[in-house]
Amino acid sequence: MKYDIVIIGSGAAGMAAAVTAAEYARLNNKKVDIVVLEKTGEDMWGGNSRYTTANMRFIDEERFDPNLEETFKKFSREKANMDHVKVIINNAVDTIKWLKSLGVRFENRTGRWIGYGLPRIGPVGGGLAVISALRKYAESIGVQILFNTTAWKLSLDDEGRINGVFVRDDRGRNFKIGAKAIVLACGGFEGNYEMLQRYIGREAINLVMDNPATPIHQGECINMALEVGAKTSGDFGNWHGSVQDVRSKAYRPRVDLYFFGILVNKDGKRFMDESGFGDVHDSFEVVARKIFEQPDHIAFIILDNKVTSIPNYKSLVHTDLPPITANSLEELGEILSREWGLNKDNFLRTVKEYNNAVQPGEFDPTILDGKHTKGIEPPKSNWALSIDEPPFMAYPVTATVQFTFGGLATDINARVLDSNNKPIPGLYAAGEIVGLYYHRYPGATSFLRALIFGRIAGINAVDYVTEEKSM
Ligand SMILES: Cc1cc2nc3c(=O)[nH]c(=O)nc-3n(C[C@H](O)[C@H](O)[C@H](O)COP(=O)(O)OP(=O)(O)OC[C@H]3O[C@@H](n4cnc5c(N)ncnc54)[C@H](O)[C@@H]3O)c2cc1C
Repeated sequence: MKYDIVIIGSGAAGMAAAVTAAEYARLNNKKVDIVVLEKTGEDMWGGNSRYTTANMRFIDEERFDPNLEETFKKFSREKANMDHVKVIINNAVDTIKWLKSLGVRFENRTGRWIGYGLPRIGPVGGGLAVISALRKYAESIGVQILFNTTAWKLSLDDEGRINGVFVRDDRGRNFKIGAKAIVLACGGFEGNYEMLQRYIGREAINLVMDNPATPIHQGECINMALEVGAKTSGDFGNWHGSVQDVRSKAYRPRVDLYFFGILVNKDGKRFMDESGFGDVHDSFEVVARKIFEQPDHIAFIILDNKVTSIPNYKSLVHTDLPPITANSLEELGEILSREWGLNKDNFLRTVKEYNNAVQPGEFDPTILDGKHTKGIEPPKSNWALSIDEPPFMAYPVTATVQFTFGGLATDINARVLDSNNKPIPGLYAAGEIVGLYYHRYPGATSFLRALIFGRIAGINAVDYVTEEKSM
């Protein structure tokens, strides 16, 4: 079996690469055989792209977030490759136009979630609608997709050029697929506890897998690229995850009400400024990681009846289970102590100290209202309402891993670099497999960057296999 271009992974990056490569080859009268390899069956194809709502940082379809560069610098503490970020900024609006030309529709999502609402748009039908539109078009212009085909080793010729990839199929057969160029679009290593422990630490074994696609991401493609000399990039010790109800077995039982209440750990103590990181999009990853540092990786979101009068507060609750409810703080402490091992005395002291520290001021859930506490550590800097109106509620929550930050180093042409910053001939990468993020993830950027760099990889791979222009 032999192709010109083999794309590994059928998520946003892989399908964008496939469509763009096929379209570009056709427009330039170049004959290029393209195949997409996907490790799952048809029921699960598309990886994280299948499960994302795919929020994007746009004010509207024609205006991208003007603050992305600053946000990246701040969140990554100046570590992110700003050349890559500029590519995202410069291609953002065109990417939306391109998707619209393929039938994808967009909706404005700013303000859909309370907690001041950063600018957001997203595709109607989420990531699945996007990859389905791309797949339909790709197949109509001759791209083949091989399901149940897991790539596990790259093959190079004697001059160090890509000449194929070894795969296993669902019947356990091993074989080599010949290729002049390969696009790695296979995501990160969030489903691989050995790698999570290696890079994040031994406690990473306790991270909850975020969604059905998480375990699929075993990091084979990162490892096989490292084996042929690829350089790494991105923050291997950090990850993106969310705050989920530890009791629930439902699909992604998120609870993001933490900033309207307080968070206490099993010792009955607060451990962070619950509202210090702003909007739900900007804060949930930091909060999830902080919860993960607590005893048994658990915390309790403590709320009182006032939360139920916040309009649309349920947009921040996705668990199928009701909160643990009591008519007094004493009773809530009793239940949490009995069922979850909470230190009740500390808990009651913590709530009392917090209530005494709440300052007067107007509560407004639609802005960072500055309604704060005074004289306690950690402080609460916004949305500080006292917890004194029954019924009292608690959600026991933990942290998930949704995707990892560490990956391969590429240049802005999506070429995978070696340790001397030279491209490995014929090897391209796009999407989550590329290490771009450090420390904190600037929310609603990952799907878009997968599409943008997938397209760039597609064009450069075609040039490489037809003219070897890109080397
Ligand atoms: C629940 C959820 C919500 C999210 N929300 C947002 C959001 O609102 N905005 C945003 O920008 N981003 C969001 N993200 C992140 C975003 O979805 C991803 O960053 C993006 O979709 C990644 O695309 P990708 O193509 O790089 O990887 P994926 O979509 O994960 O695709 C990788 C593909 O490679 C396949 N694969 C893996 N290993 C192999 C192998 N060895 N051989 C063959 N195939 C292989 C996988 O099966 C998969 O199909 C979210 C992610 C999740 C899970």
